[in-house]
Amino acid sequence: MLYYSTRDRGNYATASRVILKGLAPDGGLFVPAENIKNLFKENLPTGNYQELAVNIFSQFLGDFSLPEIQFAVSAAYNFNTFEDPAITPLSQVSEQTFSLELWHGPTSAFKDIALQVLPHLLTTAALKSGEKKEYVILTATSGDTGKSALEGFRDVPGMKIMVYFPEKGVSDIQKLQMTTQEGKNVHVIAVRGNFDDTQTGVKQIFNNHNINTKLERAGYRLTSANSINWGRLLPQIVYYFYAYGELVTRGHLQEGEAVNFVVPTGNFGNILAAYYARRLGLPINRLICAANQNNVLSDFINSGQYNKNRPFYNSLSPSMDILVSSNLERLLFELSDHDSEQIQYWMELLLKNGLYCLDKKTLSKLQELFWSDYADDEETLETIAKTYRAHNYLLDPHSAVAKKVLEKYLAQENDNHLSIVLSTASPYKFTGSTIKALYDSSLFKGLSELELMKTLSQKTGIPVPKNLAELEDKQILHHQVIEPQKMPEHLQKLLLN
Ligand SMILES: *Cc1c(COP(=O)(O)O)cnc(C)c1O
Repeated sequence: MLYYSTRDRGNYATASRVILKGLAPDGGLFVPAENIKNLFKENLPTGNYQELAVNIFSQFLGDFSLPEIQFAVSAAYNFNTFEDPAITPLSQVSEQTFSLELWHGPTSAFKDIALQVLPHLLTTAALKSGEKKEYVILTATSGDTGKSALEGFRDVPGMKIMVYFPEKGVSDIQKLQMTTQEGKNVHVIAVRGNFDDTQTGVKQIFNNHNINTKLERAGYRLTSANSINWGRLLPQIVYYFYAYGELVTRGHLQEGEAVNFVVPTGNFGNILAAYYARRLGLPINRLICAANQNNVLSDFINSGQYNKNRPFYNSLSPSMDILVSSNLERLLFELSDHDSEQIQYWMELLLKNGLYCLDKKTLSKLQELFWSDYADDEETLETIAKTYRAHNYLLDPHSAVAKKVLEKYLAQENDNHLSIVLSTASPYKFTGSTIKALYDSSLFKGLSELELMKTLSQKTGIPVPKNLAELEDKQILHHQVIEPQKMPEHLQKLLLN
């Protein structure tokens, strides 16, 4: 399988190049250059999570050998890394609705699924390139991604990871998760500023020619692990096949019967993986794209106009607070039958005016498969409470947004298919919101997040994931706080001394 860019179909790249590069040189995103339509249609892959992953990765990682793929999969998905042997267990919430839990990994966030395996794909790709460099992963984080990346890259040979987070811009739990991070190759740095300052600092390092040259001479290469990397998207295709197989095995579905997936969406990575699963032949009826009050995507899917010129809300589902969903570019490329000129045109308009409009034909293709709506904070809290009371199932705010949007869908469309809601975070990652949804919050005034976690667990009888429960006893290992302007200098000192 070869790849090319959404903005230029002239240059082919192998899977290992694509994973090493992340972004294409022309600013576009790498996509499979070959037709993957119905590759699995007659023969859906079967087996446990690891077997499915090996099978699906093998179709896409053309220049990786089978043992290389097997190694990466078993290093990523095992009983040390995931608390549940199923990796992504499927729970039944009600007769017609299931929840695919993507948060049983080492940081209780769905980003773990991709970030546990990406480091192994990267090291293999780096070996193939023949260049003897030590890779330095730079990540600016507003919460979940940083911790997930730290756990994924810790002690991976040939890699170092630096995570920068805004000192006051993450939750207490998230901060504790990062500052207690163990591993010989990890650096965690608090930045005096907000997330934008932090991200700008990282970008300035990447764009600083002088620093990059010096680091290259010293044997380092800077890279990012961000969500547009194909190596993060591919691992997400696997759990769609897994969930479907579970429904068939448990007798809820006949093989070939279609289901709906409902995805709480931010950067459009998760739901794009569902789209690729469907291209590969997985029987999917509708893909329901759930947004929060930052509802750029639901407006887009319903009207064909993408317009990022609007107020930004800090919602209770912060990982979905995004106004430009980068991975959408890949979907548009697929829907427009790989028309890279059209993509260039739309992306230029987005950059220039923050706005573009789909033509009628592309819009109708989009709406044939996708359905979208949003849920605000109040609806999110209501849904957490209602779902817990009616079904004894506890949702985090992101998953609750998805559940609410599914309810809106079912109220409008006459649809009898089973639906699977993607659950992207443990309710204990957002204990403050979860507890507020269920109980009178004046009862818990003054309690720290760790205390709230314990209280919620006592009240519901649902155990706290091990990695979060252990935080209390962990030592703070990272104390550094720096000014955003000092980030480039700090990095050089750290690496070049
Ligand atoms: C990242 C994230 C999302 C959004 O996923 P995308 O792939 O960016 O659409 C949703 N929920 C949680 C908890 C996340 O961490």
